[in-house]
Amino acid sequence: MRTDYGNYINGEWVEAASGQTLTSINPATHSEVVGTFARSGAPDVDRAVTAARNAFRQWMLTPAPERADYVLRAGLLLEERKEEIAHVMTREMGKTLKESRGDIQEAIDFAHYMVGEGRRLFGETIPSELRNKFQMTLRHPIGVVGLITPWNFPIAIPTWKGFAALVAGCTVVFKPGEDVPLCASVLTELFDEVGLPPGVWNTVHGLGEEAGAALVDHPGVAGISFTGSLDVGRMINERGGRQMKRVSLELGSKNAQIVMPDADLDLAVEGAAWGAFATSGQRCTATSRLIVHDDIREEFTERLLERVATMKVGNGLEPDVELAPVINEKQKNRILEYIAIGQAEGAKLLCGGDELTGDEYDDGFFVAPAVFTEVSPDMRIAQEEIFGPVTGIISISSIDEAVEVANSTEYGLSCSIYTHDITNVFRFAQEVEFGLAYVNAPTIGAEVSVPFGGMKNTGNGHREAGPTSLDFFTEWKTVAIDFSGKLQKAQIDKQSEV
Ligand code: NAD
Repeated sequence: MRTDYGNYINGEWVEAASGQTLTSINPATHSEVVGTFARSGAPDVDRAVTAARNAFRQWMLTPAPERADYVLRAGLLLEERKEEIAHVMTREMGKTLKESRGDIQEAIDFAHYMVGEGRRLFGETIPSELRNKFQMTLRHPIGVVGLITPWNFPIAIPTWKGFAALVAGCTVVFKPGEDVPLCASVLTELFDEVGLPPGVWNTVHGLGEEAGAALVDHPGVAGISFTGSLDVGRMINERGGRQMKRVSLELGSKNAQIVMPDADLDLAVEGAAWGAFATSGQRCTATSRLIVHDDIREEFTERLLERVATMKVGNGLEPDVELAPVINEKQKNRILEYIAIGQAEGAKLLCGGDELTGDEYDDGFFVAPAVFTEVSPDMRIAQEEIFGPVTGIISISSIDEAVEVANSTEYGLSCSIYTHDITNVFRFAQEVEFGLAYVNAPTIGAEVSVPFGGMKNTGNGHREAGPTSLDFFTEWKTVAIDFSGKLQKAQIDKQSEV
């Protein structure tokens, strides 16, 4: 398989103008170079935006069902090559093969969802107050959009944004996470293979502060759809805002699972283990707080520790591995730092939290799954996103306290509760300040047909996936057709008749 790629601009693979490159490595065996890619700057971004602008008018005028057919065909290719691409993803991003397959499946599912949207893209007809006048609303694509994505879902996140953008009629410049350029290139090749017209999809590899920043600042870009950290999101919002761009932000979070005394404990433990440690905790929806009722805290903790002790850490290509490596050295060090912070703050580390060493670990970024207890809601490990295999148990003694603690961070992406008490369920659903609220299910595991996004500092009010995914990429246009043959004056004519 090809592993070296330039940028994909106007239907061709081209080198960066500077000739510079960056490499991608395997986080399980970091001496293994996965591939070499263009390291782009402002001139490359400008070239890509120009291509996307030139392609926009024809793409906008292409019937939406036809636009959606390209998306479906790309989805079918993903389905056909799922296994091969899953291996690429595990080698480059590190997550287990099972999870890589899930990442790709999410994209396939979304292609199936979006092909239907291409035949809907519904507007409304709205009665006029005047005679012989017809009113309707149409969705109008906003123009060229920049998609800036992280490394943790290398296919799912770009397609959640990209498939919606294409069906809406936007043309795209995609700046993928610099840790996963091979996955991004493989995805881009699918668009090439289905014959997407040149310039409709462009991929520009590179670093955030170089290629990413140039995309945000480019005046030819109408909107930036960003998924990543709060700090970068805030900066993009400011810079994009100054140019009156639309900006969609999907940022970090500090997700919580509440466990009430009447919960099915086996289920709650499985949910916690999966929610906290799948993808080694590197999901924006990862369960990094366990808010557990005093009455069952001891038993829950004991069972959770038993479960965590069975989790094998290793190379994601091995079938029995549950925790794969974390993405890179920087992320590994950040996680280890938070373990030290938690201990210094007075939380009790019950297991894990150390860097794994020895034969199979020496060449990768492996951290043992960590569970803290005696965590108080105001500690940094209970407030700040760690983005690693670390979770902390916080004691509570009522549903009021559980909700208050859950809501006590600046973030608001995903929250769950384990209970069978109907009052607790509805109190939870009504009062938690999270965009996703799950009952008797973990904080992770979003589906493509429902809106996805967070409240408070997790985002700025947009939602991806589901029917709302088109909102960011389109403007509402109101069309009014007066066939009365005379000048009709809204409000005024009506008044004069009264
Ligand atoms: P990051 O913010 O470091 O990078 C994300 C993307 O932004 C990358 O492509 C990067 O190159 C680019 N970037 C960095 N600096 C930039 C700049 N100055 N200008 C423009 N672009 C720039 O995040 P990450 O480490 O890749 O991903 C982890 C973060 O993503 C976590 O905070 C996680 O919660 C978040 N995330 C959120 C969601 C969600 O849907 N809410 C989903 C996945 C990940």
